[in-house]
Amino acid sequence: MCLRHKLARLFIGADPQLRRMLGYWAATGVFYTVCLGLMLVQIRAGTADRAPAIFLCWLGMSSVLGCYVLIRVSRVLRILPAQLAVLQALIALGCNVAAYAISGPVRGASLMVLLVVIVFCTFSLRPRATLALCAGTIVALGATIGWHVIHDPLHFPAQLEAVHFGLAAASLLTVSLLTGEMSKLRVRLSRQKEALLAAVATIRTLATIDELTALANRRHMNDVLGEEERRTRARGQPVCIALLDIDFFKRVNDRYGHAGGDAVLRSFAAAARAGLRDGDVLARWGGEEFLLMLPDTCLAAATAVLARIAANVGAMRVGAIDADAAPITFSAGVAERGGGEPFADTISRADRAMYIAKSSGRNQIVPIAAEPGAGVSAGVRSDIRTLSRGQV
Ligand code: GH3
Ligand code: MG
Ligand code: MG
Repeated sequence: MCLRHKLARLFIGADPQLRRMLGYWAATGVFYTVCLGLMLVQIRAGTADRAPAIFLCWLGMSSVLGCYVLIRVSRVLRILPAQLAVLQALIALGCNVAAYAISGPVRGASLMVLLVVIVFCTFSLRPRATLALCAGTIVALGATIGWHVIHDPLHFPAQLEAVHFGLAAASLLTVSLLTGEMSKLRVRLSRQKEALLAAVATIRTLATIDELTALANRRHMNDVLGEEERRTRARGQPVCIALLDIDFFKRVNDRYGHAGGDAVLRSFAAAARAGLRDGDVLARWGGEEFLLMLPDTCLAAATAVLARIAANVGAMRVGAIDADAAPITFSAGVAERGGGEPFADTISRADRAMYIAKSSGRNQIVPIAAEPGAGVSAGVRSDIRTLSRGQV
């Protein structure tokens, strides 16, 4: 990690929500700095009461720094973002009302700051909370103006102050109501975004997963194979493809109905998957046919994996299916991908090997080597013939 990242992590942390809050804090800090700078101009010009103005500048700066510390420790102290926002808004609004009281002839302009604070609240507070803050500010401003009109009518002429107060109150309420509408719009948008993300996730699942067996579907398997083709092109690691087809599945349907057949397909998928490693991918290739991709696996190891699956399938029990009268078995052809060979060719060889497994009596695994002339190895069942490549 470079020094810049280390410093950034130190000051703004790594949590995105914390970073967002500190982003708002930084914007507030810049705004405070500008306001305090303008207050200093008033002090120099002699239009603001010096002692309270300097005190207010210190108070403002200390609040900014204090808020930074509070934001950084908010997680530890379990302070909610909304609570922090209310605190920051109260400080800003309070300082602004105080600034109005001690500012000279430009105090009317300083009321604009109140609106900025209310707009900031929109990002973190509910509309009702913003409206409550607005109402509190109007009351505080009214009381401050009233007190000064009574006690210092020379500097706070009643008519002028009534105009200030009226404009400030009307603007604050309007801005608060408008930003409230914006908040509602934001909430609606974020709900729609969540719904959209959920819909995209569902569509992705539907597009990649077979509904009945929860295995990868054929379309997704083709994508996986394309990806694997690109991945292994450079490294040249062995990859095996196996095609598995449930034997006499039509009979299962005929005897136990389509629902019974579906139950067998689901159990078969689960039993087969249980015999696989993390990187292996099993897909429902069609009807009662499955395609298995075994990355970084040589032919002998792939044949052993299929034997394991055969044992799992042999041990499985499915609802009303009488496993003794009609055991569920499968025939499989396994092919190792030749160097740089397209998977379509490997699948085609595995398919031919599977056909041999079927025609040799079913319930067997027939492996076929990658190199031309290497021939097909002996099947896993003891009664299988050794097949020559010519036969495949
Ligand atoms: P073989 O040993 O030669 O593979 O014989 P088989 O009976 O398994 O093969 P066949 O191709 O004759 O029949 C496959 C059956 O699988 C026919 C079809 O109705 C059934 N099937 C395909 N998809 C589904 C499915 O989603 N659910 C159910 N229950 N049956 C299915
Ligand atoms: Mg079949
Ligand atoms: Mg079939």
